[in-house]
Amino acid sequence: MTTERYSTSQKLYARACELMPGGVNSPVRAFKSVGGTPVFVDRAKGAHFWDADGNKYIDFVGSWGPMILGHAHPKVIQAVQEAAARGTSYGAPTRLENEFAELVCELVPSVEVVRLVNSGTEATMSALRLARGFTGRPKIVKFRGCYHGHEDSMLVEAGSGVATLGIPGTPGVLAEVARETITAPFNDFEGLTEVFARHGSEIACCIIEPVTGNMGCIPPAVGYLEHVRELCTANGALLIFDEVMTGFRVALGGAQGLYGVTPDLTTLGKVIGGGLPVGAYGGRADIMAHIAPSGPVYQAGTLSGNPLAVSAGMAQLRELRDTEGLYERLGEAARAVAEGLCERVKAAGFAASCTHVGGMFSLFFKDPAPTCYAEVKQADIEAFNRFFWAMLDRGVYMAPSAYEAGFVSTAHTPEVVAEVLAAADDALASMG
Ligand SMILES: *Cc1c(COP(=O)(O)O)cnc(C)c1O
Repeated sequence: MTTERYSTSQKLYARACELMPGGVNSPVRAFKSVGGTPVFVDRAKGAHFWDADGNKYIDFVGSWGPMILGHAHPKVIQAVQEAAARGTSYGAPTRLENEFAELVCELVPSVEVVRLVNSGTEATMSALRLARGFTGRPKIVKFRGCYHGHEDSMLVEAGSGVATLGIPGTPGVLAEVARETITAPFNDFEGLTEVFARHGSEIACCIIEPVTGNMGCIPPAVGYLEHVRELCTANGALLIFDEVMTGFRVALGGAQGLYGVTPDLTTLGKVIGGGLPVGAYGGRADIMAHIAPSGPVYQAGTLSGNPLAVSAGMAQLRELRDTEGLYERLGEAARAVAEGLCERVKAAGFAASCTHVGGMFSLFFKDPAPTCYAEVKQADIEAFNRFFWAMLDRGVYMAPSAYEAGFVSTAHTPEVVAEVLAAADDALASMG
Protein backbone atom coordinates (compact mmCIF):
# COMPACT_ATOMS: atom_id res chain seq x y z
CA MET A 1 0.00 0.00 0.00
CA THR A 2 1.31 3.43 -0.91
CA THR A 3 0.63 5.99 1.79
CA GLU A 4 0.35 8.81 -0.75
CA ARG A 5 -2.62 7.10 -2.43
CA TYR A 6 -4.68 7.23 0.78
CA SER A 7 -3.36 10.46 2.35
CA THR A 8 -6.70 12.34 2.48
CA SER A 9 -8.52 9.33 3.95
CA GLN A 10 -5.76 9.03 6.54
CA LYS A 11 -6.19 12.67 7.60
CA LEU A 12 -9.97 12.31 7.77
CA TYR A 13 -9.65 9.11 9.79
CA ALA A 14 -7.27 10.71 12.29
CA ARG A 15 -9.84 13.45 12.94
CA ALA A 16 -12.75 10.95 12.97
CA CYS A 17 -11.01 8.99 15.72
CA GLU A 18 -11.12 12.07 17.94
CA LEU A 19 -14.83 12.53 17.29
CA MET A 20 -16.33 9.03 17.09
CA PRO A 21 -15.50 5.72 18.81
CA GLY A 22 -12.91 4.06 16.58
CA GLY A 23 -13.55 6.78 14.01
CA VAL A 24 -16.70 5.14 12.64
CA ASN A 25 -20.44 4.87 13.22
CA SER A 26 -20.48 1.09 12.75
CA PRO A 27 -17.57 -1.23 13.66
CA VAL A 28 -17.43 -3.18 10.37
CA ARG A 29 -16.38 0.00 8.54
CA ALA A 30 -13.11 0.29 10.43
CA PHE A 31 -10.22 -1.73 8.99
CA LYS A 32 -9.49 -3.32 12.40
CA SER A 33 -8.82 -6.85 11.15
CA VAL A 34 -7.13 -5.98 7.82
CA GLY A 35 -5.07 -3.18 9.37
CA GLY A 36 -4.44 0.30 7.98
CA THR A 37 -6.85 3.16 7.43
CA PRO A 38 -10.40 2.85 6.07
CA VAL A 39 -11.01 4.67 2.79
CA PHE A 40 -13.44 7.58 3.10
CA VAL A 41 -16.08 7.59 0.37
CA ASP A 42 -16.85 10.75 -1.56
CA ARG A 43 -19.47 9.59 -4.08
CA ALA A 44 -20.73 6.48 -5.87
CA LYS A 45 -22.39 5.46 -9.14
CA GLY A 46 -23.30 2.00 -10.45
CA ALA A 47 -20.66 -0.59 -9.50
CA HIS A 48 -18.15 2.10 -8.47
CA PHE A 49 -17.31 4.57 -5.75
CA TRP A 50 -14.66 7.26 -5.47
CA ASP A 51 -12.74 7.95 -2.26
CA ALA A 52 -11.71 11.27 -0.76
CA ASP A 53 -8.35 11.05 -2.57
CA GLY A 54 -10.10 10.64 -5.94
CA ASN A 55 -9.29 6.91 -6.30
CA LYS A 56 -11.94 4.87 -8.12
CA TYR A 57 -13.02 1.44 -6.86
CA ILE A 58 -15.18 -1.46 -8.02
CA ASP A 59 -17.39 -2.00 -4.98
CA PHE A 60 -18.26 -5.46 -3.66
CA VAL A 61 -19.70 -4.19 -0.38
CA GLY A 62 -22.60 -2.16 -1.77
CA SER A 63 -23.39 -0.67 1.66
CA TRP A 64 -23.29 -4.28 3.00
CA GLY A 65 -26.07 -5.44 0.73
CA PRO A 66 -28.69 -2.78 0.00
CA MET A 67 -27.31 -1.48 -3.32
CA ILE A 68 -28.51 -4.36 -5.50
CA LEU A 69 -29.23 -2.05 -8.46
CA GLY A 70 -25.85 -0.35 -8.09
CA HIS A 71 -25.24 3.06 -6.54
CA ALA A 72 -27.41 6.08 -7.36
CA HIS A 73 -29.84 4.17 -9.57
CA PRO A 74 -31.85 6.80 -11.52
CA LYS A 75 -35.26 5.40 -10.53
CA VAL A 76 -34.37 5.29 -6.83
CA ILE A 77 -32.92 8.81 -6.90
CA GLN A 78 -36.00 10.15 -8.69
CA ALA A 79 -38.34 8.48 -6.19
CA VAL A 80 -36.48 10.04 -3.26
CA GLN A 81 -36.40 13.50 -4.85
CA GLU A 82 -40.12 13.44 -5.62
CA ALA A 83 -40.96 12.23 -2.12
CA ALA A 84 -38.73 14.84 -0.45
CA ALA A 85 -40.55 17.65 -2.26
CA ARG A 86 -43.81 16.50 -0.60
CA GLY A 87 -42.36 16.64 2.92
CA THR A 88 -39.87 14.39 4.68
CA SER A 89 -42.01 12.95 7.51
CA TYR A 90 -45.59 13.24 8.81
CA GLY A 91 -46.04 10.79 11.71
CA ALA A 92 -49.44 9.89 10.29
CA PRO A 93 -50.48 7.13 7.88
CA THR A 94 -49.95 7.44 4.12
CA ARG A 95 -51.20 5.71 0.96
CA LEU A 96 -47.53 5.00 0.22
CA GLU A 97 -47.30 2.64 3.21
CA ASN A 98 -50.29 0.64 1.94
CA GLU A 99 -48.68 0.25 -1.47
CA PHE A 100 -45.35 -0.75 0.04
CA ALA A 101 -46.90 -3.28 2.44
CA GLU A 102 -48.87 -4.76 -0.47
CA LEU A 103 -45.66 -5.13 -2.47
CA VAL A 104 -43.76 -6.80 0.41
CA CYS A 105 -46.66 -9.21 1.06
CA GLU A 106 -46.78 -10.02 -2.67
CA LEU A 107 -43.05 -10.72 -2.94
CA VAL A 108 -42.22 -12.55 0.31
CA PRO A 109 -44.10 -15.88 0.44
CA SER A 110 -44.60 -16.14 4.24
CA VAL A 111 -45.56 -12.51 4.85
CA GLU A 112 -49.32 -11.94 5.21
CA VAL A 113 -49.06 -8.86 7.43
CA VAL A 114 -46.04 -6.59 7.83
CA ARG A 115 -44.79 -3.84 10.18
CA LEU A 116 -42.19 -1.34 8.94
CA VAL A 117 -39.29 -0.24 11.13
CA ASN A 118 -36.02 1.63 10.52
CA SER A 119 -33.27 -1.01 10.56
CA GLY A 120 -32.56 -4.71 10.49
CA THR A 121 -31.75 -4.64 14.20
CA GLU A 122 -35.13 -3.14 14.99
CA ALA A 123 -36.82 -5.79 12.85
CA THR A 124 -35.16 -8.74 14.60
CA MET A 125 -35.52 -7.20 18.07
CA SER A 126 -39.25 -6.72 17.47
CA ALA A 127 -39.77 -10.18 15.95
CA LEU A 128 -38.05 -11.80 18.95
CA ARG A 129 -40.25 -9.85 21.39
CA LEU A 130 -43.30 -10.90 19.40
CA ALA A 131 -42.21 -14.56 19.45
CA ARG A 132 -41.85 -14.43 23.24
CA GLY A 133 -45.11 -12.53 23.64
CA PHE A 134 -47.00 -14.91 21.39
CA THR A 135 -45.68 -18.17 22.88
CA GLY A 136 -45.22 -17.01 26.49
CA ARG A 137 -41.83 -18.79 26.47
CA PRO A 138 -38.41 -17.29 27.38
CA LYS A 139 -35.71 -19.02 25.30
CA ILE A 140 -34.36 -18.24 21.85
CA VAL A 141 -32.25 -20.52 19.69
CA LYS A 142 -29.69 -18.94 17.37
CA PHE A 143 -26.86 -20.36 15.29
CA ARG A 144 -23.15 -19.70 15.94
CA GLY A 145 -21.69 -17.14 13.56
CA CYS A 146 -25.10 -15.78 12.52
CA TYR A 147 -25.66 -12.07 13.10
CA HIS A 148 -29.08 -10.64 13.83
CA GLY A 149 -28.30 -7.04 14.70
CA HIS A 150 -27.00 -5.63 17.98
CA GLU A 151 -29.99 -6.45 20.19
CA ASP A 152 -28.78 -7.78 23.59
CA SER A 153 -29.87 -11.40 23.33
CA MET A 154 -28.42 -11.74 19.83
CA LEU A 155 -24.81 -10.81 20.65
CA VAL A 156 -24.10 -14.30 21.94
CA GLU A 157 -21.60 -15.98 19.55
CA ALA A 158 -22.56 -13.55 16.80
CA GLY A 159 -21.07 -13.10 13.34
CA SER A 160 -20.23 -9.91 11.43
CA GLY A 161 -18.24 -7.30 13.37
CA VAL A 162 -18.56 -9.29 16.59
CA ALA A 163 -16.68 -12.14 14.90
CA THR A 164 -14.26 -9.85 13.05
CA LEU A 165 -13.19 -8.14 16.26
CA GLY A 166 -13.09 -11.41 18.21
CA ILE A 167 -15.48 -10.13 20.89
CA PRO A 168 -16.70 -13.17 22.85
CA GLY A 169 -19.58 -11.52 24.66
CA THR A 170 -20.46 -7.87 25.12
CA PRO A 171 -20.17 -6.04 28.43
CA GLY A 172 -23.51 -4.42 29.10
CA VAL A 173 -25.51 -7.50 28.17
CA LEU A 174 -26.96 -8.94 31.36
CA ALA A 175 -26.09 -12.56 32.13
CA GLU A 176 -29.80 -13.11 32.77
CA VAL A 177 -30.51 -12.07 29.19
CA ALA A 178 -27.64 -14.00 27.58
CA ARG A 179 -28.67 -17.13 29.49
CA GLU A 180 -31.96 -17.29 27.60
CA THR A 181 -30.12 -17.52 24.27
CA ILE A 182 -29.15 -21.04 23.25
CA THR A 183 -26.66 -21.45 20.40
CA ALA A 184 -26.34 -24.34 18.00
CA PRO A 185 -23.85 -24.99 15.18
CA PHE A 186 -25.18 -24.06 11.70
CA ASN A 187 -25.89 -27.04 9.44
CA ASP A 188 -25.63 -29.52 12.36
CA PHE A 189 -28.77 -31.71 12.28
CA GLU A 190 -28.07 -33.67 15.46
CA GLY A 191 -26.95 -30.62 17.47
CA LEU A 192 -30.28 -28.87 16.94
CA THR A 193 -32.29 -32.01 17.65
CA GLU A 194 -30.51 -32.22 21.03
CA VAL A 195 -31.21 -28.56 21.84
CA PHE A 196 -34.92 -29.15 21.29
CA ALA A 197 -34.84 -32.44 23.21
CA ARG A 198 -33.43 -30.60 26.26
CA HIS A 199 -35.27 -27.27 26.12
CA GLY A 200 -38.20 -27.84 23.71
CA SER A 201 -41.03 -26.59 25.94
CA GLU A 202 -39.15 -23.38 26.88
CA ILE A 203 -38.19 -22.32 23.35
CA ALA A 204 -40.11 -19.34 21.99
CA CYS A 205 -38.39 -19.35 18.62
CA CYS A 206 -35.48 -20.34 16.50
CA ILE A 207 -33.91 -17.51 14.47
CA ILE A 208 -31.68 -18.28 11.49
CA GLU A 209 -30.00 -16.67 8.50
CA PRO A 210 -31.31 -19.22 5.97
CA VAL A 211 -28.19 -18.59 3.89
CA THR A 212 -25.58 -17.08 6.19
CA GLY A 213 -23.97 -13.80 5.19
CA ASN A 214 -22.34 -12.66 8.40
CA MET A 215 -19.72 -15.41 8.66
CA GLY A 216 -19.33 -15.46 4.89
CA CYS A 217 -21.86 -16.88 2.46
CA ILE A 218 -22.76 -20.40 3.61
CA PRO A 219 -25.74 -22.15 2.03
CA PRO A 220 -27.86 -24.49 4.16
CA ALA A 221 -27.11 -28.22 3.79
CA VAL A 222 -29.71 -30.11 1.76
CA GLY A 223 -32.73 -30.62 4.02
CA TYR A 224 -31.40 -28.45 6.88
CA LEU A 225 -34.01 -25.69 6.72
CA GLU A 226 -36.71 -28.37 6.54
CA HIS A 227 -35.19 -29.99 9.66
CA VAL A 228 -35.27 -26.67 11.54
CA ARG A 229 -38.87 -26.12 10.40
CA GLU A 230 -39.96 -29.57 11.59
CA LEU A 231 -38.32 -29.21 15.02
CA CYS A 232 -39.97 -25.82 15.58
CA THR A 233 -43.39 -27.10 14.54
CA ALA A 234 -43.11 -30.26 16.65
CA ASN A 235 -42.14 -28.23 19.74
CA GLY A 236 -44.58 -25.33 19.36
CA ALA A 237 -41.75 -22.83 18.74
CA LEU A 238 -41.86 -20.16 16.04
CA LEU A 239 -39.41 -20.18 13.17
CA ILE A 240 -37.95 -16.78 12.26
CA PHE A 241 -36.03 -16.41 9.01
CA ASP A 242 -33.76 -13.41 9.35
CA GLU A 243 -33.73 -12.37 5.71
CA VAL A 244 -32.28 -8.91 6.35
CA MET A 245 -29.40 -9.90 4.08
CA THR A 246 -30.93 -12.63 1.89
CA GLY A 247 -34.29 -10.94 1.28
CA PHE A 248 -34.64 -9.89 -2.41
CA ARG A 249 -30.94 -10.80 -2.82
CA VAL A 250 -30.66 -14.58 -3.15
CA ALA A 251 -33.98 -14.52 -5.07
CA LEU A 252 -36.91 -12.13 -5.42
CA GLY A 253 -38.78 -14.17 -2.78
CA GLY A 254 -35.68 -14.43 -0.58
CA ALA A 255 -34.28 -17.72 0.75
CA GLN A 256 -37.80 -18.91 1.65
CA GLY A 257 -38.76 -18.57 -2.01
CA LEU A 258 -35.55 -20.24 -3.17
CA TYR A 259 -35.69 -23.24 -0.81
CA GLY A 260 -39.45 -23.54 -0.43
CA VAL A 261 -39.42 -23.52 3.39
CA THR A 262 -41.96 -21.25 5.08
CA PRO A 263 -41.09 -19.52 8.37
CA ASP A 264 -43.68 -18.12 10.78
CA LEU A 265 -42.00 -14.71 10.87
CA THR A 266 -39.54 -13.02 8.53
CA THR A 267 -37.28 -10.03 9.17
CA LEU A 268 -36.17 -7.77 6.34
CA GLY A 269 -33.74 -4.88 5.91
CA LYS A 270 -30.94 -3.79 3.57
CA VAL A 271 -32.31 -4.29 -0.01
CA ILE A 272 -35.86 -3.40 1.11
CA GLY A 273 -34.84 0.22 1.69
CA GLY A 274 -32.92 0.97 -1.51
CA GLY A 275 -30.10 2.43 0.60
CA LEU A 276 -32.36 4.34 2.99
CA PRO A 277 -33.10 3.16 6.54
CA VAL A 278 -35.93 0.62 6.26
CA GLY A 279 -36.50 -2.63 8.11
CA ALA A 280 -39.60 -4.79 8.32
CA TYR A 281 -40.95 -7.84 10.07
CA GLY A 282 -43.97 -9.82 9.09
CA GLY A 283 -45.51 -13.23 8.75
CA ARG A 284 -48.62 -15.14 9.77
CA ALA A 285 -51.57 -12.82 10.27
CA ASP A 286 -52.63 -14.52 13.55
CA ILE A 287 -49.18 -13.91 15.06
CA MET A 288 -48.82 -10.35 13.75
CA ALA A 289 -52.23 -9.56 15.31
CA HIS A 290 -50.44 -9.63 18.68
CA ILE A 291 -48.57 -6.40 17.80
CA ALA A 292 -49.90 -3.10 19.20
CA PRO A 293 -52.31 -1.48 18.59
CA SER A 294 -54.16 -4.60 17.38
CA GLY A 295 -52.60 -6.66 20.22
CA PRO A 296 -50.62 -6.27 23.48
CA VAL A 297 -46.99 -6.65 22.27
CA TYR A 298 -45.69 -3.08 22.09
CA GLN A 299 -43.50 -1.79 19.29
CA ALA A 300 -43.42 1.71 17.79
CA GLY A 301 -41.35 4.20 15.76
CA THR A 302 -41.54 7.95 15.12
CA LEU A 303 -40.00 7.64 11.65
CA SER A 304 -41.29 4.14 10.76
CA GLY A 305 -42.76 4.10 7.24
CA ASN A 306 -40.90 7.32 6.45
CA PRO A 307 -41.98 8.56 3.01
CA LEU A 308 -38.45 9.04 1.64
CA ALA A 309 -37.30 5.62 2.81
CA VAL A 310 -40.45 3.85 1.62
CA SER A 311 -40.28 5.59 -1.77
CA ALA A 312 -36.67 4.47 -2.28
CA GLY A 313 -37.49 0.91 -1.22
CA MET A 314 -40.56 0.75 -3.44
CA ALA A 315 -38.67 1.99 -6.50
CA GLN A 316 -35.96 -0.61 -5.90
CA LEU A 317 -38.33 -3.53 -5.25
CA ARG A 318 -40.47 -2.71 -8.30
CA GLU A 319 -37.38 -2.59 -10.49
CA LEU A 320 -36.30 -5.99 -9.11
CA ARG A 321 -39.77 -7.44 -9.74
CA ASP A 322 -40.25 -5.98 -13.21
CA THR A 323 -36.83 -6.53 -14.83
CA GLU A 324 -36.72 -9.68 -16.94
CA GLY A 325 -33.76 -12.01 -16.20
CA LEU A 326 -32.34 -9.77 -13.46
CA TYR A 327 -31.69 -12.54 -10.91
CA GLU A 328 -30.11 -14.78 -13.58
CA ARG A 329 -27.65 -11.98 -14.39
CA LEU A 330 -26.94 -11.26 -10.71
CA GLY A 331 -26.32 -14.95 -10.04
CA GLU A 332 -24.02 -15.20 -13.02
CA ALA A 333 -22.01 -12.17 -11.87
CA ALA A 334 -21.62 -13.62 -8.35
CA ARG A 335 -20.60 -17.00 -9.75
CA ALA A 336 -18.08 -15.50 -12.20
CA VAL A 337 -16.42 -13.35 -9.51
CA ALA A 338 -16.35 -16.08 -6.86
CA GLU A 339 -15.07 -18.85 -9.13
CA GLY A 340 -12.69 -16.54 -11.01
CA LEU A 341 -11.08 -15.27 -7.79
CA CYS A 342 -10.97 -18.74 -6.25
CA GLU A 343 -9.23 -20.28 -9.29
CA ARG A 344 -6.59 -17.55 -9.31
CA VAL A 345 -5.93 -17.63 -5.55
CA LYS A 346 -5.49 -21.40 -5.74
CA ALA A 347 -3.17 -21.13 -8.76
CA ALA A 348 -1.05 -18.70 -6.71
CA GLY A 349 -0.54 -21.45 -4.14
CA PHE A 350 -3.04 -20.54 -1.41
CA ALA A 351 -5.81 -22.74 -0.04
CA ALA A 352 -9.10 -21.35 -1.38
CA SER A 353 -12.75 -22.16 -1.92
CA CYS A 354 -15.84 -20.19 -2.84
CA THR A 355 -19.61 -20.13 -2.45
CA HIS A 356 -22.35 -18.13 -4.15
CA VAL A 357 -26.13 -17.96 -3.83
CA GLY A 358 -28.01 -15.44 -6.00
CA GLY A 359 -26.35 -12.02 -5.69
CA MET A 360 -24.02 -12.91 -2.79
CA PHE A 361 -20.74 -14.82 -2.67
CA SER A 362 -17.69 -15.60 -0.57
CA LEU A 363 -14.06 -16.34 -1.25
CA PHE A 364 -12.57 -18.33 1.64
CA PHE A 365 -8.83 -18.79 2.17
CA LYS A 366 -9.51 -22.38 3.11
CA ASP A 367 -10.37 -25.57 1.24
CA PRO A 368 -12.95 -27.13 1.27
CA ALA A 369 -15.56 -24.38 1.78
CA PRO A 370 -16.74 -24.04 5.39
CA THR A 371 -20.22 -25.23 6.36
CA CYS A 372 -20.31 -23.68 9.86
CA TYR A 373 -18.63 -21.05 12.04
CA ALA A 374 -15.99 -23.40 13.51
CA GLU A 375 -14.80 -24.13 9.96
CA VAL A 376 -14.90 -20.47 8.91
CA LYS A 377 -12.42 -19.73 11.70
CA GLN A 378 -9.89 -22.13 10.12
CA ALA A 379 -9.33 -19.76 7.15
CA ASP A 380 -5.89 -18.20 6.57
CA ILE A 381 -6.65 -14.66 7.77
CA GLU A 382 -3.13 -13.39 7.14
CA ALA A 383 -3.30 -14.42 3.45
CA PHE A 384 -6.77 -12.86 3.15
CA ASN A 385 -5.53 -9.57 4.60
CA ARG A 386 -2.61 -9.37 2.17
CA PHE A 387 -4.94 -10.15 -0.75
CA PHE A 388 -7.45 -7.53 0.50
CA TRP A 389 -4.81 -4.79 0.44
CA ALA A 390 -3.31 -5.88 -2.90
CA MET A 391 -6.83 -5.65 -4.40
CA LEU A 392 -7.61 -2.33 -2.71
CA ASP A 393 -4.41 -0.85 -4.11
CA ARG A 394 -5.67 -1.92 -7.56
CA GLY A 395 -9.11 -0.36 -7.13
CA VAL A 396 -11.19 -3.33 -5.95
CA TYR A 397 -13.06 -2.81 -2.67
CA MET A 398 -13.93 -6.07 -0.93
CA ALA A 399 -15.34 -6.32 2.60
CA PRO A 400 -12.49 -5.51 5.02
CA SER A 401 -12.97 -8.81 6.86
CA ALA A 402 -12.47 -12.49 6.04
CA TYR A 403 -15.82 -13.12 7.75
CA GLU A 404 -18.07 -11.11 5.47
CA ALA A 405 -19.82 -11.98 2.23
CA GLY A 406 -19.40 -10.12 -1.06
CA PHE A 407 -22.31 -8.50 -2.90
CA VAL A 408 -22.86 -7.87 -6.59
CA SER A 409 -25.32 -5.51 -8.21
CA THR A 410 -26.92 -5.30 -11.64
CA ALA A 411 -24.15 -2.81 -12.47
CA HIS A 412 -21.52 -5.56 -12.05
CA THR A 413 -21.46 -6.38 -15.76
CA PRO A 414 -19.22 -9.04 -17.38
CA GLU A 415 -16.81 -6.19 -18.30
CA VAL A 416 -16.56 -5.13 -14.64
CA VAL A 417 -16.00 -8.74 -13.59
CA ALA A 418 -13.22 -9.11 -16.20
CA GLU A 419 -11.54 -6.00 -14.77
CA VAL A 420 -11.68 -7.47 -11.26
CA LEU A 421 -10.12 -10.76 -12.37
CA ALA A 422 -7.32 -8.93 -14.18
CA ALA A 423 -6.70 -6.94 -10.98
CA ALA A 424 -6.58 -10.22 -9.05
CA ASP A 425 -3.92 -11.62 -11.43
CA ASP A 426 -1.81 -8.55 -10.82
CA ALA A 427 -2.50 -8.52 -7.06
CA LEU A 428 -1.53 -12.19 -6.64
CA ALA A 429 1.64 -11.71 -8.71
CA SER A 430 2.64 -8.93 -6.31
CA MET A 431 2.12 -11.22 -3.31
CA GLY A 432 4.78 -13.57 -4.75
C1 LIG B 1 -27.31 -6.48 8.67
C2 LIG B 1 -28.08 -7.53 9.36
C3 LIG B 1 -28.87 -7.24 10.49
C4 LIG B 1 -28.88 -5.89 11.14
O1 LIG B 1 -29.39 -4.91 10.31
P1 LIG B 1 -29.03 -3.36 10.63
O2 LIG B 1 -29.81 -2.61 9.60
O3 LIG B 1 -27.56 -3.24 10.48
O4 LIG B 1 -29.49 -3.08 12.00
C5 LIG B 1 -29.64 -8.26 11.01
N1 LIG B 1 -29.65 -9.48 10.48
C6 LIG B 1 -28.90 -9.80 9.40
C7 LIG B 1 -28.97 -11.19 8.83
C8 LIG B 1 -28.09 -8.84 8.82
O5 LIG B 1 -27.33 -9.17 7.78
